[in-house]
Amino acid sequence: EAKHAGRGQASCYQSGMLEQIAARHQLEQDIKAAIEQRQFHLAYQPILSLHDDRIVGYEALIRWEHPTRGRVSPAEFIPFAEETGQIVAIGQWVLEEACREAACWADDQHVAVNISPVQFKSPSLRAHIVSALDRSGLPPHRLEIELTETALVADGQALAHILGEIRALGIKVAMDDFGTGYSSFAHLRDFPIDRIKIDRSFVASAVTDSHAMAVLRAITQLGQDMRVPTLAEGVETQEQLELVRRLGCDDVQGYLIGKPERLDTSSISQKKYA
Ligand code: C2E
Ligand code: MG
Ligand code: MG
Ligand code: MG
Repeated sequence: EAKHAGRGQASCYQSGMLEQIAARHQLEQDIKAAIEQRQFHLAYQPILSLHDDRIVGYEALIRWEHPTRGRVSPAEFIPFAEETGQIVAIGQWVLEEACREAACWADDQHVAVNISPVQFKSPSLRAHIVSALDRSGLPPHRLEIELTETALVADGQALAHILGEIRALGIKVAMDDFGTGYSSFAHLRDFPIDRIKIDRSFVASAVTDSHAMAVLRAITQLGQDMRVPTLAEGVETQEQLELVRRLGCDDVQGYLIGKPERLDTSSISQKKYA
């Protein structure tokens, strides 16, 4: 009896595993097709400067319209593409496309592009950036790359070297989702960066949670002391906007200002958000 149940479980477990392997294989094939058949596009989310209430740039966020599944979230396929290594080809396309589109914007607006830790560690990143800038004609100072702290884990010296090489091209580097990784503060000490993007979890809870508020205030103060501008992510309410303004954040991004949207060049305006 018990033996039978045990065998049943084992084969059930195995077929579950086979299904999982098949699903992963399918996703890998689908991503390959998506790259080849241009199923990706970019949505752009505005970044508002609190100094002069102007849109100073946009973050490029990848979107995938799967032919049968519909929209697939980057939170699902990006981590998978990192495992398979496909993120390098996807990331190359994102860089090319973002620079190409941004080249048509007002010349004081930058484009922020997310770079996966896998992509950051790949030897082709620098060449991909140079190519995207060359082909689009976008001046390097209008490109900002966003790295999460996990990109900077392990072999600090080698990574600091890559970061230095990339910044020498004249592009900017932002630390994304700041405060959520391990040893956030050591990263600020060890790596030269141009912007701190404070994770939206702090912004969301600061209004009601005094500890989150203290962390938010400390990060903002740290940015000011280090002369590194801070951006508050995920601002959804007027109350949150007033809070981060009062704390001295330099820029904000979030649904209150604007959701990520596909842009045609004519829709980019210098709208005021005072
Ligand atoms: P992220 O870089 O931190 O991007 C911000 C995410 O927060 C975006 O989700 C954005 O739509 C969402 N967001 C913006 N404002 C608000 C708000 O007010 N409230 C809430 N609840 N959410 C807000 P999205 O587009 O689904 O992207 C998720 C993550 O996927 C990104 O986080 C980034 O890590 C990754 N990702 C997106 N596009 C790319 C890409 O082109 N390359 C790479 N490597 N990663 C990407
Ligand atoms: Mg980002
Ligand atoms: Mg972020
Ligand atoms: Mg995030």
